[in-house]
Amino acid sequence: MALFRPELETCPICGSTGNCHIHDYYGRSIIDFNSGIPEKSNLCVMRVFCDSCCHAHAILPDIIIPYSSYSLLFVLRILGEYFAGLSTIEQLCERYGISQNQLFKWVALFKAHKQEWLGLLADAEISDLSFLKNLSFAGSYSSFSMEFIQRSSRSFLQSHRNPVPRSPKNARYHQTVFAPDISIF
Ligand SMILES: [Zn+2]
Repeated sequence: MALFRPELETCPICGSTGNCHIHDYYGRSIIDFNSGIPEKSNLCVMRVFCDSCCHAHAILPDIIIPYSSYSLLFVLRILGEYFAGLSTIEQLCERYGISQNQLFKWVALFKAHKQEWLGLLADAEISDLSFLKNLSFAGSYSSFSMEFIQRSSRSFLQSHRNPVPRSPKNARYHQTVFAPDISIF
């Protein structure tokens, strides 16, 4: 995010380049897993405004699952341990400070999104643990994340559908990934 330059970006709604600038920031919290314990941190989320189409965009890094209080890595880590079967459900929930209900919701969501991504046939052939390992060791999570959003109009492991804004009348919710126009490597 330190290298993100909104003025160099292409607006995902109107497609114009060079018209986005920093609009404001809002605070939100996120639960992550640090040094063996769940940890709540405060995040400052940047919103950019496009002068060409007058839409504001929140810039969410990959570690955020929209509408989720838990970070992506937190959820993937629990799912990894769950699918590996190394701990009991009770042990997992206690260590991560979550309810069994929450764990089962994530498991169901993961399975549903995996099937959506792979299709019925491949989904049956590839185990949940293999799929999760492939995601974790993929060269760029952003590429997967971007393609998932383009195919399903929501983020991987996002449980709620995106809202339909009431006003202004021409407003529509649009979720996409800002393709970096600058190379950070
Ligand atoms: Zn625009």
